[in-house]
Amino acid sequence: MVLDSKDKLRYSRHLSLPEIGREGQERLKASRVLVVGAGGLGCPAALYLAAAGIGTIGIIDPDCIELSNLQRQVLYRDSELGLSKVEVASARLKENNPNVVVETYRTALSPENAFEIIQRYDLVLDATDNFTARYLVNDACFFLRRPNVFASVSKFEGRLSVLCLPDGPCYRCLFPETPQDKILNCAEEGILGAVPGVMGTLQALAALKLILGLEDSGHRLSIFNFLNIELKNIVLPKNTQCPLCGAHPTIRKLESRALECHSVPEILPGDLQTFLEAEESVHLIDVREPEDFRRGKIPGSLSVPLNVILSDTATLPQDKVLILICQRGQRSRIGVQHLIEKGFRGTRSLRGGLSEWPGKLERCLSTSRPQK
Ligand SMILES: [Zn+2]
Repeated sequence: MVLDSKDKLRYSRHLSLPEIGREGQERLKASRVLVVGAGGLGCPAALYLAAAGIGTIGIIDPDCIELSNLQRQVLYRDSELGLSKVEVASARLKENNPNVVVETYRTALSPENAFEIIQRYDLVLDATDNFTARYLVNDACFFLRRPNVFASVSKFEGRLSVLCLPDGPCYRCLFPETPQDKILNCAEEGILGAVPGVMGTLQALAALKLILGLEDSGHRLSIFNFLNIELKNIVLPKNTQCPLCGAHPTIRKLESRALECHSVPEILPGDLQTFLEAEESVHLIDVREPEDFRRGKIPGSLSVPLNVILSDTATLPQDKVLILICQRGQRSRIGVQHLIEKGFRGTRSLRGGLSEWPGKLERCLSTSRPQK
């Protein structure tokens, strides 16, 4: 893929970066990237990919433009309500960069078409807004060995991770099953419009870095809080118990429907105090990162971050009832599922996590682990 004289002008700011240069720009031009979902994340992601000179961009989305989309889906105009998203997106990307080939799929990604579509691309951006699609993208990327640049948004928060790299974790390493409680898509939950704008742009950035060989991640989940501009990087090791990419996988093909949910024992925040009084041998285990733990914890709880629980259970007492705590009760559920599989009976997750804990939190200066 050789650059012509117009390309050299168009991409001159790339070409003057030693990390990109002519070779890198030619690599971008030769690459094929699929954007799954042409919504709040997909719009800015696809636009930056096109502007950067990705040779071929695939966009898949079954929907038409609705009025409620315009608050965040910045490729679309008020005059285009009712038109197909992928067709309008394709036209807009070509207006920006006529050299880009845009391949559109006006359909939903399904177990029937996922392999056929995804195998045509070098990497995939998961810009979907629901769990069923997210698992499907993840599983297909894992089976086809395609990197999955994942982002999700909720209210004022965004998450980003590069998944399905060789030796790296997949989405199911983090969420083996569909989280059951309080998980809504943004149509129901509300989202500040600029949040997916930032996160979709970060997906494009991660994709460009992957193609250029500049991406260093793949083993972390970055959580952005846009209310107070905080970034948290959580180490995300490959989960050896992962039903897809773990040592003993149970998922061997694409599933045709949303995952069956395994229930994880939980305890309600309001019941915890009574439970602590009734049960003598209870350990409260806070699975958040140590710096979060230091900022505020439930009195009496001990810090054992989730990645430690997933990789080494030797320090945890088998003869105690363990109650796992995190910020919202999602990471703790992953920990509980893992511990139950490891034989820790009676383990429970604090439902809703600290965000629903009615009592006071205690600050602490040091963290400690329970001793056997
Ligand atoms: Zn996995």
